Amino acid sequence: MGNIVAIVGRPNVGKSTLFNRLTESRAAIVDGEEGVTRDRHYGTSEWNGKTFSVIDTGGYVTNSEDVFEEAIRKQAAIAMDEADVILFMVDVQNGITDLDQSVANILRRINKPVLLVVNKVDNNDLNLDATEFYGLGYEKLYSISSNSGSGTGDLLDEVTNLLPEQKEEETEEELPRFAVVGRPNAGKSLLVNTLLGEDRNIVTDISGTTRDAIYTRYNKFDRDFYLVDTAGLRKKAKVREDLEFYSVMRSVRVIEYADVCLVMIDATKGIESQDVNILHLAVRNNKGVVVLINKWDLIEKQTDTAKKMETEIKNRLSPFEDVPIIFISALTKQRIFKALETATKVYENRNRKIKTSQLNDYLLPLIERTPPPSIKGKYIKIKYVAQLPTPYPAFAFYCNLPQYVKEPYRRFLVNQLRKGFNFTGVPIKIFIRKK
Ligand code: GDP
Ligand code: GDP
Repeated sequence: MGNIVAIVGRPNVGKSTLFNRLTESRAAIVDGEEGVTRDRHYGTSEWNGKTFSVIDTGGYVTNSEDVFEEAIRKQAAIAMDEADVILFMVDVQNGITDLDQSVANILRRINKPVLLVVNKVDNNDLNLDATEFYGLGYEKLYSISSNSGSGTGDLLDEVTNLLPEQKEEETEEELPRFAVVGRPNAGKSLLVNTLLGEDRNIVTDISGTTRDAIYTRYNKFDRDFYLVDTAGLRKKAKVREDLEFYSVMRSVRVIEYADVCLVMIDATKGIESQDVNILHLAVRNNKGVVVLINKWDLIEKQTDTAKKMETEIKNRLSPFEDVPIIFISALTKQRIFKALETATKVYENRNRKIKTSQLNDYLLPLIERTPPPSIKGKYIKIKYVAQLPTPYPAFAFYCNLPQYVKEPYRRFLVNQLRKGFNFTGVPIKIFIRKK
């Protein structure tokens, strides 16, 4: 965790194809047989024992109103802010275009390692054509075919050479790491200041290894926890008009570092798609979630106002509906301690480990009563279940015909787990494995 590789280049050179190639194999290892939905432009990759995140910067800026030059400027800005290594991609089948030149000009000003990647080199003849790109002024180029994967090994060798050594995250103690996330103006700063006070009772300061996201350790209200601070990241919002966009990028980073995300929503604005994006980011990264509906002091309360908002959020998060939703005011301090307390509980839920015997005693009779529906006359027998040693709740169900256990039944299993044990606020992953 912590290292970021950004892919930059004009449209259609193959950025998202490479992105998919780099991030899919990793997903396959981590997520087993289950296809998980990920942010399509931000994923994790692993090579030579190093783990790094990959950003397809094109995915964040292809916006119909963007003229190409503008889109490229934004891609470069993301790469500059976020990346440790930049892959500058061009297309051998088109040769050098004006836009490639523009990208090269912008990247020259960035003081970060840039690798020139010549894509669509699908055969040996094209390998010769690739040499044309030395004209962009790079000493070395990497010819690859994102479609077939050829050449990507050499590229990744160099990428991992350039990445700094990974140290273990240096939080010496296992304390909860909370992050306050949300759209601009949701009230994040006010909440943090109100909770922690001006004096900010800081015990120690431990910075992330290579990144500038910072865990600050607090001891407040009888609780000891780290707050993942976005202060360092906040400064980087250079591009004013993209505040919204940058806030999502920041959330991505901060969420990675946290155990539990306090997702703040401005009650006066209602729930908008950006709020839902941030919520989904937290859930997809298997983080604990507490939803804080803020500015509750400004809301004219009809009897069902809270209920309506609650229902809407749960619908948007479905099928993961077991989420605490708290109506707060950072201004009047209404329920802000409850918010912190709930975050602590969610942290405990996320770390909950259920003994294998207890799991099986509880689940197997339920499974026996409601077995997976048989398919093509085949009976599916789940024999036992065990929790996996992951940092978030994940369970493996061992079964004779795993491929026949479909989504509705997986949901049934998750629901039973939630009924039997307290996993409020935490996504649960399940894997059906062959036995
Ligand atoms: P992006 O706009 O830079 O993200 O480009 P895409 O990844 O969407 O790719 C643009 C087009 O190029 C698609 O039709 C891809 O299938 C194609 N493409 C990507 N990589 C290769 C490759 O290695 N060889 C060939 N022949 N086509 C490719
Ligand atoms: P951030 O961008 O998420 O950090 O939001 P801020 O903490 O800067 O808050 C944005 C604005 O909303 C500021 O003017 C705050 O004073 C105001 N605000 C934040 N929380 C509340 C609240 O609970 N009630 C009211 N009335 N205003 C709030």
